[in-house]
Amino acid sequence: FGWGDDVRDYIRTIPDFPKPGIQFRDVMPLFGHPRGLRAAVDRLVQPFAGLRIQHVAGLEARGFIIGGACAHQLSAGFLAMRKQGKLPGPRLAQSYALEYGEAVLEVHDDAVEAGEQVLIVDDLLATGGTAEAAVKLIERLGGEVVGAAFVVDLPDLGGRARLERMGVAVHTLCA
Ligand code: 5GP
Repeated sequence: FGWGDDVRDYIRTIPDFPKPGIQFRDVMPLFGHPRGLRAAVDRLVQPFAGLRIQHVAGLEARGFIIGGACAHQLSAGFLAMRKQGKLPGPRLAQSYALEYGEAVLEVHDDAVEAGEQVLIVDDLLATGGTAEAAVKLIERLGGEVVGAAFVVDLPDLGGRARLERMGVAVHTLCA
């Protein structure tokens, strides 16, 4: 690791995780380093500073770490977009396709009020399926998605184009 202010210096690629053939981008060294975490949060929120953002919606689980830090930086609240079966209260569910099968993202049904501005934050954008489910949940609650910010973009998987087709402004720090 270079230990400068370039977030790429803190991200490593682990081959064959969680399955053979997958090159997993590991952001834990970035989150674990004082300068890395500061650089990532500062750069993620930069385009959204000064907007009236009510909530940062973080996607379970790495989006909770970086999204919570971004919420604090923007003086916004934090909204948990969780995997199925984790939220205790009344909730909305949105299913989305995985490579094999499907998954479900959930949010508490009183987490957003109509017209509130919400910024989505996660560590990595791949196919965009998870983030698309988050956009749908926020819009079903009556919220407005002001953008979606990710540390890493894997552009070959089409997530950015998919979100932009939905009218979502996408901000990423590195590919
Ligand atoms: P998508 O729904 O865009 O295909 O996948 C993005 C989701 O899967 C994100 O929540 C992200 O955390 C996770 N993910 C997929 N591949 C990777 C990877 O290589 N590294 C990390 N850190 N997360 C990944």
